Amino acid sequence: MFKKMIDRKYSGLEDRLKIDCEKCSGLCCVALYCMKTDGFPANKEAGVPCQYLRTNFRCDIHAKLGSKNMRGCLAYDCFGAGQKVTQNCFPKVDWKSSPNLANGIFLVFQIVFQLHQMEWYLLEALSLTPDEHLKTDIESLISENERMTSLPSDEILHLNIEDYRSDVNRILKQLSEMITVSSDKKNRKDYFGHNFKHANLDRKDFSMALLIAANFEGCSLHGANFLGADMRDTNIKNTDLSSSVFLTQMQINSAKGNANTKLPYRISRPISWQEK
Ligand code: SF4
Ligand code: SF4
Repeated sequence: MFKKMIDRKYSGLEDRLKIDCEKCSGLCCVALYCMKTDGFPANKEAGVPCQYLRTNFRCDIHAKLGSKNMRGCLAYDCFGAGQKVTQNCFPKVDWKSSPNLANGIFLVFQIVFQLHQMEWYLLEALSLTPDEHLKTDIESLISENERMTSLPSDEILHLNIEDYRSDVNRILKQLSEMITVSSDKKNRKDYFGHNFKHANLDRKDFSMALLIAANFEGCSLHGANFLGADMRDTNIKNTDLSSSVFLTQMQINSAKGNANTKLPYRISRPISWQEK
């Protein structure tokens, strides 16, 4: 069940969920509220450009983010929302040259981010489900997602995505219950700093778990579910996550891996790991 490859007809959608900062006006470096304690250069309000964002929308300290310990910057991933909003939703303007539109651009970015994040999970759900009815429901939610993100920007701004989110969450919960096992009667979710080293955790449900600084080195994680888990500083060195489920690029970027860490095919190896 955990040999996940998406149907070829959806591979274009997968590509669109990968970030392409060259095609973006640095939206995450402006639109988002940031805290120094989360690994950003300074505390800043949403809508205020980071002090290191150049006029060409590139990061002035990009090559030094690792040495300056900018963990927040290194971990962030917008699921391709940045280039989508820059290139498709506002193709002729940007937040800097059209400050009167900036708030609208930032709001659309945040809505598209949420929709792309849900689409990321839906595409994985589609590759995992053994149930034809569920598959039909997932495909219909993916189509609806594509319809919403293709709307004109003023219509995206007025979308109410909460009903859609409830439908997505219901499907993901249903699927999670089908593919994972819970041996833990208390359904424990706090594993802060827990040492699992070399444990067999196949099909274990870690959804929404606190895994900060937990040690998964050498564990067996076939089909383990990491949906929404907090993986900051989680040790995944020498660990095979290639068949674990519902991982995101942001989780992997914030974890500690190495050259021997194996990742699901949709996830890129963080550049910062090469130094370790
Ligand atoms: S919003 Fe996304 S695409 Fe744009 S700079 Fe940030 S991570 Fe890159
Ligand atoms: S330091 Fe660079 S990547 Fe981080 S918020 Fe500032 S401009 Fe963006």
